[in-house]
Amino acid sequence: MKTLSHYLNGQLSAGQSQRTSPVYNPATGEQSAQVALATADETREAVRIADEAFVAWSKTSPLKRSRILFKFKALVEEHTDELARLISSEHGKVFSDAKGEVTRGLEVVEFACGIPHLQKGEHSMNVGTGVDSYSMMQPLGVCAGISPFNFPAMVPMWMFPIALACGNTFVMKPSEKDPSTPLRLAELLKEAGLPDGVFNVVNGDKEAVDVLLTDERVQAVSFVGSTPIAEYIYATASAHGKRVQALGGAKNHMVIMPDADLDQAVGALMGAAYGSAGERCMAISVAVPVGEETANRLREKLVAELDKLTVGPGLVDGPDNDMGPLITREHRDKVADYIQVGVDEGAELVVDGRQTTVDGAGDGYFIGGSLFDHVTPSMRIHSEEIFGPVLAIARVASFDEAVGMINAHEYGNGTAIFTRDGDAARQYCEQIQVGMVGVNVPIPVPMAFHSFGGWKRSLFGPLHMHGPDGVRFYTRMKTITQRWPSGIREETNHFTMPTM
Ligand code: NAD
Repeated sequence: MKTLSHYLNGQLSAGQSQRTSPVYNPATGEQSAQVALATADETREAVRIADEAFVAWSKTSPLKRSRILFKFKALVEEHTDELARLISSEHGKVFSDAKGEVTRGLEVVEFACGIPHLQKGEHSMNVGTGVDSYSMMQPLGVCAGISPFNFPAMVPMWMFPIALACGNTFVMKPSEKDPSTPLRLAELLKEAGLPDGVFNVVNGDKEAVDVLLTDERVQAVSFVGSTPIAEYIYATASAHGKRVQALGGAKNHMVIMPDADLDQAVGALMGAAYGSAGERCMAISVAVPVGEETANRLREKLVAELDKLTVGPGLVDGPDNDMGPLITREHRDKVADYIQVGVDEGAELVVDGRQTTVDGAGDGYFIGGSLFDHVTPSMRIHSEEIFGPVLAIARVASFDEAVGMINAHEYGNGTAIFTRDGDAARQYCEQIQVGMVGVNVPIPVPMAFHSFGGWKRSLFGPLHMHGPDGVRFYTRMKTITQRWPSGIREETNHFTMPTM
């Protein structure tokens, strides 16, 4: 059995821990590898390596750091298909989704390539007589990243490109469910010219994570995962004096106004609810049609579309399926249990994904797309994150009722409104308590040069990921106010340009 381990100081490192976790191919249910779970000592060693590498890397010029990232971008592009196959074979998402994930991650690399401009700081002359002031954005030191299973390439790439570009060193702790892609990215970073020790990968579980949250050499922690763990990460790492951004779970609503282009809304909903089998923090899991007529027409069109949804392995010869398997057997069973919860709570199960069969799927973790109607806010299938291909229709009578229901929800990651009414859309953007809002756009994931983050219990910490907030998160500002002895210029009377 192949054992995946760590990437330390520029090379794969076998690790000493006796503890491992199985890695499966979700499309077949077969174990493809096992991953070593780092001990606390091994994790501390990764932090030590990163700490040592910081001395030289933080002094490397921004232009040089940027050139390495340009090279890395070219290498990731060259290896996109290989990376997408790795993602699909361990996560299960279909090949086109996996390629899309790599592309979205690459956009952050492209943004980070602009670091010579982004990290320039500020300067004011003559703030007092003969006094100048300037602010520098200095790197923090060792930064840690802890990522979830659902985007094994993109979420690490939300973090490390900007951290490295700013002059930090990094210890990445990927999800133990699909660890191969971050290890491959580490190899590509080395090939791009990144010095050894600047980027390290430690595979593991809570034992490794707890070191990253408490070791005094770690300056900042970026986390993406479920809300209970995000809350724990934020509380623990903050208590140990670290800067933290911890992104959590979600329940995203799409409001469909009576004047919306319904075909456009339904097409958008199908991709947003069932794409990547619903295992996306920006998936739409609740459709909120305003008015009975809108709801009836929406439901009818969704049922027709669901009938056409293809479910099958993520890697096939020929056209992709629409939806692959879920990540593990336990997660598939949890999603199936939620469907039963919805039935028991009195919601109307219009399409039951548990009945979907996949030809030749063996023991793959498949489940079809499900649709509930007449879901109400008090039901668990509305209040809890299912993280699977289950869409709920929650009917409301008015725009105000829709806004009230969404604002009362504990999560506030993403949302969308479909309408032709600019006034309604504008009011929605102003009133809704959600971090990312789409107007006739179903999954409003901001581009890399804007920042990504939710509100309420979808994000702990003040700064969002990537974009301007990413640069703020991975740098700390120092402001120098300086006065030179008056007359020095007259005495020396010349000025020489420093040599490069
Ligand atoms: P998870 O919280 O189970 O795991 C995330 C990471 O935390 C993994 O690396 C895991 O090893 C580690 N971890 C798990 N338990 C831990 C513990 N007790 N102590 C310390 N570390 C621990 O999440 P997941 O199941 O991998 O991912 C799915 C979740 O991630 C969903 O809730 C989804 O909404 C969320 N997510 C959120 C965003 C966002 O941007 N807000 C993006 C992607 C995923």
